[in-house]
Amino acid sequence: MPESVLTTPQAKLLDGKAIAARIRQNVALEVSSLTAAGKPIQLVTVLVGNSPAARVYAGNQAKTCRELGIGYSLRELPEDISQQQLNAVLQCLAADHNVTGIMVQLPLPPHLNTQETQYGIDVIKDVEGVNPANIGHVVYGHSIIAPCTAAAVVEMIASTGISLTGKEVVVVGASRIAGKPTALLLTEMQATVTLCHIHTRDLPSHSRNADIVVVAVGKPGLITGQHIKPGAMVIDVGINRIQVPGPDGRMIHRTVGDVDFASVSPLAGWLSPVPGGVGPVTVAMLLRNTVRAAKLVHGIEKPF
Ligand code: NAD
Repeated sequence: MPESVLTTPQAKLLDGKAIAARIRQNVALEVSSLTAAGKPIQLVTVLVGNSPAARVYAGNQAKTCRELGIGYSLRELPEDISQQQLNAVLQCLAADHNVTGIMVQLPLPPHLNTQETQYGIDVIKDVEGVNPANIGHVVYGHSIIAPCTAAAVVEMIASTGISLTGKEVVVVGASRIAGKPTALLLTEMQATVTLCHIHTRDLPSHSRNADIVVVAVGKPGLITGQHIKPGAMVIDVGINRIQVPGPDGRMIHRTVGDVDFASVSPLAGWLSPVPGGVGPVTVAMLLRNTVRAAKLVHGIEKPF
């Protein structure tokens, strides 16, 4: 019988927190051996403007880095900084040998160009893998630094032990940051990939043929049991904040994915939950990339 993703039509949950914890353990070991060898890691996050939410996020990054022994600093820039000034800051960070990783917090204020900014992040220090060069290298079958979300999807599939070779995969959502890099990476892993998007005429006719469905759209409940072949693996990248009635009847916020858990979980073979699925693994990929970037900067690994 050919290998099939379909085993039992009752979804096993893909525990993103457990997968992320394993990756973080490895990262911690790598960080301590790099530090012991006199090759420290220093990650710089560039934050433009005064968003309190972005500050909280940066605070969480700082805490995570501290726990793992990674040096972290936040470079705060004024809201009205010009594109040229921002580019100049990125050039300085690229030239600074003490800085081994760079990330730019999004969204940027509207007068700044995100793509131009991402072009300005040094390719080997680009820990999020967002420089178009890093996304483009995936086409050549290798990544200098892989885009985090796409790498997280691959990692989650790999954690099941199921080979991607020859699998029918449907990726729903074709953004530059999530869907397209994921489709490229999965193609490199020998899957047959169909990339669907808002103009796809009949989404279920594609997704129902898939052994693996990856959803990265940002619409709660988009993928239901109607979209899934029994036993298929479903990876939910979506992160949506919705309001639902709480125990006392008042509306409360909840984080959900793009998959209608209630109708998909009895059908799917594997399912990644939200929260606790792709999200923590994406953060773990960022940390893994931070180590990779440091190794590239210190000349321990080569880009190709
Ligand atoms: P985006 O808005 O840039 O792209 C959405 C994509 O979905 C587009 O390609 C669009 O064509 C497609 N789409 C929209 N409606 C559709 C429909 N009805 N049917 C099929 N395709 C449709 O979004 P993004 O930045 O790629 O983010 C997508 C989701 O993934 C968001 O919820 C975001 O929060 C989440 N996300 C999660 C992670 C993570 O690490 N877990 C990382 C990045 C993004």
